[in-house]
Amino acid sequence: MANFYITTAIPYTNARPHIGFAMELVQADCLARYHRLIGDDVYFLTGTDVHGQKMVQTAKEEGITPMELAERNSATFKDLTSGLNCSNDDFIMTFEERHKRGAQKMWRAIAADDGFYESEYDGLYCVGCEAYVTEKDLTPEGNCPNHNKPPQKLKEKNYFFKYTKYLPQVKELIEKDELLILPRSRKAEMLEMIDKAMEEKTDISFSRPSKNLSWGVPVPDDKSQTMYVWCDALTNYITALGYENDDELYKKFWPGINLIGKDILRFHAGYWPAMLIAAKQKPPRAVYVHGFVTSEGKKMSKSLGNVIDPFDAADELGIDPLRYYLLREVPTGDDGDFSRERFDALYNGELANNLGNLVSRVLTMTQKYSNGKVPPVAKDEDIEKRVLETWKAYQKHIDEFNLKAAIEGVFHLLSFANEYIEQKKPWEMAKKEPAEVLKVLYRLLEIIRHVSMMLLPYMPQTAEKIQGALNISHTKLYPDNINWGMLKEGTTIEKVEALFPRTSAEAP
Ligand SMILES: [Zn+2]
Repeated sequence: MANFYITTAIPYTNARPHIGFAMELVQADCLARYHRLIGDDVYFLTGTDVHGQKMVQTAKEEGITPMELAERNSATFKDLTSGLNCSNDDFIMTFEERHKRGAQKMWRAIAADDGFYESEYDGLYCVGCEAYVTEKDLTPEGNCPNHNKPPQKLKEKNYFFKYTKYLPQVKELIEKDELLILPRSRKAEMLEMIDKAMEEKTDISFSRPSKNLSWGVPVPDDKSQTMYVWCDALTNYITALGYENDDELYKKFWPGINLIGKDILRFHAGYWPAMLIAAKQKPPRAVYVHGFVTSEGKKMSKSLGNVIDPFDAADELGIDPLRYYLLREVPTGDDGDFSRERFDALYNGELANNLGNLVSRVLTMTQKYSNGKVPPVAKDEDIEKRVLETWKAYQKHIDEFNLKAAIEGVFHLLSFANEYIEQKKPWEMAKKEPAEVLKVLYRLLEIIRHVSMMLLPYMPQTAEKIQGALNISHTKLYPDNINWGMLKEGTTIEKVEALFPRTSAEAP
């Protein structure tokens, strides 16, 4: 048993959540639930990032204060965590005092290590990115490639963080996998960025004059400066645990794993560990990086009208089917597509046919051939081995942040169980060898019990429904539930409604 701490990035609250962040939430939730299943002590954090210039601009356009905007949109993100059935233990918003005090403590700790110097920033800033940019980052037209808008020109006094002073240590941590970056391809990408930053000696401006930007965390001991939004936002991963007072929670769970999108890798595997080293704190144990979600093969954009609202998607498709799609169809570490046609195909093929049909057939046969009771324990070496191997692969894939491969293995086991029924033909067997039918049924019920545990991290409601039908609550894999034969003879098996009613697309 270990301590396991997982965080999502904290999304920026100047807009509503999109499906890409819904995927990040669901990935983090899947990891949190999996680690609870194997008996770890888990803490799962998400929240919102409310500071920065973009917030000020958006609030102004809407005729409200930045705080009103932050509160309103934070509430929406909070609703999304429950709307997707996420099991987060905390939700931090960076306007909270606990966060501000923690961020200021970190600032002072970095300053105590001589991690800052004062200088003048004379350059460009993209408000959309909330990042300092240089000419060579821009398109030939002089626009930010992410936002297609020209950056602002800034000339102001700032505190600079001595990023390059700490980079050799960060590099070593990443090279040795002491700061593990998954998938592996992102590790190479990050090391390249580090080499470049060291070569170009790029330190980072870490504050803005308060007269230009006051919506943020004040730099301690210098009222004329506000922290750069990323400098305050990154600290949320520890301020939420009570870094401010060195709380038990902090000591217990940090260092943890930061799960993020690929566009903010530099901040999380570069700036963040450098800040922690400067402040004499441990760097994150790992950074897990996911790709983007496109919509019907295209980048989501308002003008294309293909933006997927995660609330609508959960309402229309169902929470578990949506979670399934995001975890099964989008490769964990790479870009993936959200397509309605593909959703329907997976829903009907995998959820309704493979999983739903198996459960319904086996439960119905149990009513018919075993009076609705679990038959005596029946062994079968091959099947037991198959189940155990599915568990092994499942665990290995999740540890490697390959959530897609893990769930695919579960569905292979389901396909096997369906084939086993076709091959054994219990309905024919019932006439000639009634004792054999009971053995076949037991094995099938036991496979379903194992699958219900494998589904807990992915589709918790479905897993609970299946366990409800089996009259069990197997939420911990160890010490016993991973074994074969844990369904007790004579247990009443309940009837269930179809787990996944077919969608109209395939109705006759
Ligand atoms: Zn930009």
